[in-house]
Amino acid sequence: MTFNTAALLAPAPNAEFERGTVPRRDVAADDVLIDIKFAGICHSDIHQVREEWGSSTFPMVPGHEIAGIVAEVGENVTKFKVGDRVGVGCFVDSCGECEWCEIGEEQHCRKNVGTYNSREHNGDLTYGGYSKQIVVKQDYVLRIPDAIELDVAAPLLCAGITTYSPLRQWGAGPDKRVAVIGMGGLGHMAVKFAHAMGAHVTVISQTRSKEADGRRFGADDYRAMNEPGSLKELRSSFDLIICTVSADMNIDAYLRTLRVGGALVFVGLPENPQSFRVSSVISGRRSLAGSNIGGIRETQEMLDFSAEHGLAADIELIGADEVDAAYDRVVASDVRYRFVIDTATI
Ligand code: NAP
Ligand code: ZN
Repeated sequence: MTFNTAALLAPAPNAEFERGTVPRRDVAADDVLIDIKFAGICHSDIHQVREEWGSSTFPMVPGHEIAGIVAEVGENVTKFKVGDRVGVGCFVDSCGECEWCEIGEEQHCRKNVGTYNSREHNGDLTYGGYSKQIVVKQDYVLRIPDAIELDVAAPLLCAGITTYSPLRQWGAGPDKRVAVIGMGGLGHMAVKFAHAMGAHVTVISQTRSKEADGRRFGADDYRAMNEPGSLKELRSSFDLIICTVSADMNIDAYLRTLRVGGALVFVGLPENPQSFRVSSVISGRRSLAGSNIGGIRETQEMLDFSAEHGLAADIELIGADEVDAAYDRVVASDVRYRFVIDTATI
């Protein structure tokens, strides 16, 4: 059995959002019903609504940066109770028994179910956070610490974990020089986390326009790509580069800024294939890698780390009528630094 919840729907690729309803399943034994309060707008939402990563399923309700309050729990739920402050990120189910689920890296599970534009194991379409309520199994729900307001917590569920995870994986910390390319939603969290982990942090942005913010987020250095020679000066500088750019880029120029043994890690996922010269990784034993969100265990660790260090996203809170315009502003690199929808306006 299902019930309907109010939602913002993308009816077709590139079409404007419309108010409507989508079905949610009735709360089952292991389920948590969440009253969604805030939903962040990730660039991945835009890629999928605009079918930049291949075909999507419509109507689509995007949103995988969800923060809200528990409204009801199923009879087997032990982890949460009504009134708890909770979040949901990029996936809502997985097989629960493969090698990756067993170690809490459910993002690698072949049966991972995306929060939207995906299908439940029974074939039902999933609908995301641009809506008033969602039903999720307790094992895929995160606890938002009291120290973090819900609106600025929402973006941590994707932008937060997607940058925290590779920083941990590649050992960001004291004595490490980390660069962050692109300071949007993901990038601004990467700067905050890398600084809090004790690394020396450089922002590489298209222009100087975000410099004051970058330094406020913890950057020790800030470079603008529109200034000639900016990358040449950075040759052999970094142990780790987190690239959050959502568009085509000159990978070789960035690889040359890595020290011997350094790694360039992609989290940004542009529409087009990218190329690089093999000599750029052979020279200096450099690595080119990627990283995909993070598991439930590490996402909770990231939320607790954020609370401990007083970190959260810098956001622009918007209403449902402003989402189309917000998408265009994100694509124009004109967001400071995450749009978050107040779902009371849906
Ligand atoms: P965003 O807020 O739009 O940030 C991207 C930033 O990249 C922009 O703010 C801009 O920074 C820079 N940029 C944009 N266009 C550029 C261009 N043509 N040349 C150079 N730099 C450019 O997007 P986001 O939400 O942070 O997401 C970033 C990317 O990560 C997207 O592709 C998204 O789909 C992907 N993503 C991946 C994962 C994962 O698990 N791997 C998870 C979430 C998102 P400056 O203004 O500072 O130059
Ligand atoms: Zn995302």
